[in-house]
Amino acid sequence: MSTSEGKQTRAFQTEVRQLLDLMIHSLYSNKEIFLRELISNASDAADKLRFEAISNDGLYEGDSQIAIRVIFDKEANTLTISDNGIGMTADEVTTNIGTIARSGTKEFLQSLAADQAKDANLIGQFGVGFYSAFIVADRVALVTRKAGAASHEAVRWESAGNGEYTLETVTKESRGTDVILHLKPEEKDFLDDWRVRSTIRKFSDHVSWPILMLQSAGYAADEEGDEDKSAETTPEDKSPQWETVNKASALWTRAKSEITEEEYTEFYKHVGHDFEDPLAHIHARLEGKYEYTVLLYVPKRAPFDLWDRDRKHGVKLYVRRVFIMEGAEDLMPRYMRFVRGVVDSTDLPLNVSREILQKNPAVDAIKKGMVGKVFSLLEDMAKNDAEKYQQFWDTFGVVLKEGVIEDFAHRERVAKLLRFSSTHADSKVQDVSLEAYVSRMKEQQKAIYYVNGESLEAARHHPHLEIFRKKGIEVLLLTDRVDEWLVNHLHEFDGKPLHSVAKGGLDLGELEDEADKKELEKYQGEFKDLIERVQTGLGELVKEVRVTNRLTDSPSCLVSGEHDLSASMERILREAGQKTPSTKRTLELNPAHPLVERLKDEQDGQRFEDLSHILFSQALLSEGGQLADPADFVRRLNGLLLSGKTA
Ligand code: ADP
Ligand code: MG
Repeated sequence: MSTSEGKQTRAFQTEVRQLLDLMIHSLYSNKEIFLRELISNASDAADKLRFEAISNDGLYEGDSQIAIRVIFDKEANTLTISDNGIGMTADEVTTNIGTIARSGTKEFLQSLAADQAKDANLIGQFGVGFYSAFIVADRVALVTRKAGAASHEAVRWESAGNGEYTLETVTKESRGTDVILHLKPEEKDFLDDWRVRSTIRKFSDHVSWPILMLQSAGYAADEEGDEDKSAETTPEDKSPQWETVNKASALWTRAKSEITEEEYTEFYKHVGHDFEDPLAHIHARLEGKYEYTVLLYVPKRAPFDLWDRDRKHGVKLYVRRVFIMEGAEDLMPRYMRFVRGVVDSTDLPLNVSREILQKNPAVDAIKKGMVGKVFSLLEDMAKNDAEKYQQFWDTFGVVLKEGVIEDFAHRERVAKLLRFSSTHADSKVQDVSLEAYVSRMKEQQKAIYYVNGESLEAARHHPHLEIFRKKGIEVLLLTDRVDEWLVNHLHEFDGKPLHSVAKGGLDLGELEDEADKKELEKYQGEFKDLIERVQTGLGELVKEVRVTNRLTDSPSCLVSGEHDLSASMERILREAGQKTPSTKRTLELNPAHPLVERLKDEQDGQRFEDLSHILFSQALLSEGGQLADPADFVRRLNGLLLSGKTA
């Protein structure tokens, strides 16, 4: 079949070598998935060819019968997956098969422990792909010729999966790709007709292109149902015939009632390039001004590069069953970038480009429809399967939160889906909805209260929470970075304003009883002189000093102005390298605290100054902030400790 010119040997990129190693050693319990992966690639290659042929039908080279063939050879010990799809040039082979370009790969692979059972799961985040061939083969060859090439010149890639591969120029009559697996001695059962067929049916039945196998004696007879798709065989014809093993129709075009859960799942793995089952799916045909079908999935696990803006996978666009493009940004908002699946439109032109997509009115309608479907899927899950929704939220909640910021029109709808940690049950997960919070609000409570913290622990122990604990008022604990932006955009829910416990004067309204107010007034009088002295001592460090009824256990805390940047937001901006002037805040002192009492009675000037600075620094530290001059704090603290000892 091929003549070879010079052969070159090349080394795999380190990441590829690591991945291969992992693949071979950790996926042993799920061996047959290699077939799914290779057929999935063949199917993608066929999709790409059909798309490109819309504008250049010379690419078909006179053969527009696209099919995937699976052939085994018992004597040679090989299993071959052959397609007449788009094929690859030598350069494409080197980039697509020899390297992994996804950013963060190195870090991800390094994070995988030697714990192989765990790695087998984690690898799902990556997608197993072509390299899964090495689970069953000790040598893999790939012979490929790009569709429309001027000559029959093709490229042959070969590797034993041990760090190197060879490339050579060969000739290949037909376009497309053959992947030839030299099976390991212990994997010979993949040379069994029944085994291969049943694996294809199990994993690849949903593939839209026909998957052909040579008819084997004694097999066709029990295949009554598939007669219409089988190649015709006449009794006198002795040479074996190709027959279609799969259903070979686009899954999403079939009626829901005719699709099994397994088929939905396997299709997801193909379209989502995922190794694991999806968490949920929604399949719907939308009819109206525009007609389209969606089959959308929510994955179980976040891909390791969820935050990479250049990721290519997303929702695949088809027009009348012809694949057009993958990951079209105009079809899904960024805050739903976890969604995988397909949308098949009847109205878009086949030659649609990304530019046309941006202008076509049908696209807006389709996007709107899809967003609506994703919302219904999530709302339904939240309502009927809280455990599943929790799993979704733990994985993708941070992404969905961006919707509050980005999508004004759906702010309310996203808000209902939000989940937070709160002081209510002190749970470790984010499982409190705003609706649940509102339902627990005290009768006279006016606002939904929240506190921002670097971590759940920091938020939970925030000094500002003390009075809320005492009064039994629930506070939401916001610990994700995006929460700072979230609360800047979500001003109210269900008519109740959202209010930070660390901002502004505390107005607990009716919840403060007369006695509380009287007590505070009494303290304000009593501590008037002290307040002035502390303020003079701290000078530029604070905007104001006052006594508070916010605290029960802590001596002091810092409060931001109603419209100031929050301290945590300032920190985030500064860490991101932005020049942010620090806003001065109000220091509040707890008049009932012994340290504040002691400050009031302090006669020694130095000790008074040290203690006031320490109360300021403590307030900053206990909310998770950083001291501008830690050495100064230590010096003052030590001064006090020592003077206490000698006193
Ligand atoms: P993925 O399919 O998720 O992109 P794979 O490891 O399965 O990852 O494949 C890597 C790349 O190799 C594909 O994206 C494609 O560009 C190329 N490729 C693999 N198999 C084929 C094939 N049969 N025909 C053409 N290109 C292929
Ligand atoms: Mg693949």
